[in-house]
Amino acid sequence: RSPLDCMRAGAIGAAVRGSEGKEIRSTVQGRVAVVTGAGAGLGRAYALLLAERGAKVVVNDLGGARDGGGKSSQAADKVVQEIRSKNGTAVADYNSVEDGHKIVETAVSAFGRIDILINNAGILRDKSFARISDQDWDLVHAVHLRGAFKTTQAAWPHFKKQGYGRIVMTASNSGLLGNFGQANYSAAKMGLVGLSNTLAIEGAKGNIHCNVIVPTAASRLTEDILPPEFFAELKPELIAPVVAWLCHEDNTDNGAIIESAAGWAGKSYIVTSQGSVLRKRIGDAVSIEDVRDRWTDVTDMSTAKYRESIQEASGELLNVLEAVRDGP
Ligand code: NAD
Repeated sequence: RSPLDCMRAGAIGAAVRGSEGKEIRSTVQGRVAVVTGAGAGLGRAYALLLAERGAKVVVNDLGGARDGGGKSSQAADKVVQEIRSKNGTAVADYNSVEDGHKIVETAVSAFGRIDILINNAGILRDKSFARISDQDWDLVHAVHLRGAFKTTQAAWPHFKKQGYGRIVMTASNSGLLGNFGQANYSAAKMGLVGLSNTLAIEGAKGNIHCNVIVPTAASRLTEDILPPEFFAELKPELIAPVVAWLCHEDNTDNGAIIESAAGWAGKSYIVTSQGSVLRKRIGDAVSIEDVRDRWTDVTDMSTAKYRESIQEASGELLNVLEAVRDGP
């Protein structure tokens, strides 16, 4: 069901009824949060909410154009002023996420630590696949994927040392589902899902959680894409609480993909079909005809399931080998 279907079905009421009503100021009180690309759109909403709930925030923004060109300190400065005018604590940082270590240095020199990193900065260089230049490809990857890599890798030793860290990666339905004209962006966004999956594993022991947000919101990235009547209901402020909860110390999710838009949130999984063994016994070859004849079972998603880990997937392969060892 789409987010709107869900709302129409009254799921909003269920969500409200389920809430405990307790304010979670302790969520982020005293925590130091870095939000990249926080000079506008979603990042701005995250920074404002975290600051409102007592976090000290580094408002990072290069202040460039939607396609990544140019830079300015104005975007970050404006949000810092907004936070300070509400008695919040924030500093501006104007570095590109490609120089992620400088952004983390800003946090450490201003506030002495870093607890939360929201990798949000992004640009678009939409073209149909045949028209994507090397530069369109490289720039989009540099900001989204390499930028998240550089910034997160700089924060990682701090998280490890203090035994605490919360990371959010920003993906997109363009990556999860594909979207015409966004091959470069889709690939980078799905790359962030892979990065998050592995960081969730590597960080778990050290209480470092990494999750993915898949937002849909009204911003300069979507102003010419989304229908105007829809646009008004897609406020970034409706997604900010979901991201803030992902950064909460009590949230046990790690390696999750959470989609949110229009005051709705849900979780995504990659699932795999039951599949079919393509040969009778060990030692047999597999022919193209074997594949064709079993294709319906290979692709039958009616009993598809989620695998928790690569170990679970490998375990299933061992079961398959076991099953064909002695033949039918
Ligand atoms: P936005 O353009 O309003 O905000 C992105 C911000 O990132 C801008 O202020 C920009 O100056 C900054 N930025 C760009 N390159 C940077 C760099 N190299 N270093 C530091 N800052 C940089 O767009 P938004 O819609 O708020 O997007 C935020 C994130 O959410 C992006 O990663 C975007 O891909 C993702 N996203 C947005 C939507 C949506 O519907 N708006 C959907 C899916 C994913």
